[in-house]
Amino acid sequence: PADVETLGRSSWTLLHSIAATYPKTPTPSEQSDIKSFMRLFAKLYPCWTCAADFQQYIKKEDVRAGSRDEFGNWLCDAHNEVNKKLGKPTFDCSKWEERWRTGWKD
Ligand code: FAD
Repeated sequence: PADVETLGRSSWTLLHSIAATYPKTPTPSEQSDIKSFMRLFAKLYPCWTCAADFQQYIKKEDVRAGSRDEFGNWLCDAHNEVNKKLGKPTFDCSKWEERWRTGWKD
C-alpha cells in the first residue's frame, strides 16, 4: 500500500541521515544510544510486519556502531535486506555516504 511506501521512504531518509551525521569516532555512550535507538525504532515502527522482520534482522545482525563508516554500512546492509525481500535492486554500499551525506556529483 502507498502509505507503507511513503512511510518507508521517509524512514530510510531519516535513518541514513542519522548515519551521515553519526560521529566518526563515537564515544561509548553515543554507541550505546544508537544501538538502543535502532532497537526501539524496530520495535515501534508502525508497519507491524515490517517491524517484526526488522527486529529479527537486528537480532541476527547486531547493530555495528563503532564509527560512522561502520554504522552507515550496517544500515546500508539492513536496507539491502529489505530491498531483496521486496524484489528491489540492491544498493552499492560503497556509495552510501555519497548518496546521503556529501551528495551525488551530478
Ligand atoms: P526506498 O527503499 O524507500 O529507498 C529510498 C532511497 O534510498 C532510494 O531511492 C535509494 O536512493 C536509497 N537506497 C536504496 N537502498 C539503499 C541502501 N541499501 N542503502 C542506502 N541507501 C539506499 N516495505 C514493505 O513492503 N515490506 C516490509 O517488510 C518493509 N520493511 C521495512 C523496514 C524498514 C525498517 C523500513 C524503514 C522500511 C520498510 N519497508 C517495507 C519500506 C520499503 O523499504 C521502501 O521504503 C518502500 O517500498 C519504498 O521504496 P522505494 O523504492 O521508494 O525506495
